[in-house]
Amino acid sequence: MNQFEWKTANAEETGHFAARLAELLQPGDVIALEGDLGAGKTTFTQGLAKGLDIKKTVNSPTFTIIKEYKGKLPLYHMDVYRVADSMEDLGFDEYFEGDGVSVVEWAHLIEDQLPGELLTIYLYREREDHRRLVLVPKGERYEQLCKEILA
Ligand code: ADP
Ligand code: MG
Repeated sequence: MNQFEWKTANAEETGHFAARLAELLQPGDVIALEGDLGAGKTTFTQGLAKGLDIKKTVNSPTFTIIKEYKGKLPLYHMDVYRVADSMEDLGFDEYFEGDGVSVVEWAHLIEDQLPGELLTIYLYREREDHRRLVLVPKGERYEQLCKEILA
């Protein structure tokens, strides 16, 4: 399995990397974010939103599981940390197949509802403000995307 690594030394660098990724995204792309609390999943999403020219502040959708933002492409920001507590059918499919970009924090918690192809980004906290981002693409589209962003 191919995987790609990117290191950042502070929150701004993580944001910049995410913003660069955003410029390469297409409607229907799905990004899964994994990492402990405070690893930088929301920070990453904020950078991505900036790259999509979203003016609104993106914050942790802790109680609302899904938040939608309008930008160059719509952004569907999901934090499914509490989804196990929810008995609702949230209709994730419609977002994943929609015209926007889906970003899912704690995606493994809805593993069986995820699409077959997606880009998973693991964020690991190293010393202080350093983070290691590991990109794991599933499917041709996302392998290509990884090559483009790291080119
Ligand atoms: P999560 O959504 O994974 O719980 P957040 O993005 O909410 O994490 O929080 C990450 C915290 O770590 C923020 O306060 C952010 O400023 C800080 N931080 C420090 N260094 C980095 C880095 N290199 N990348 C991302 N966030 C960082
Ligand atoms: Mg978060």
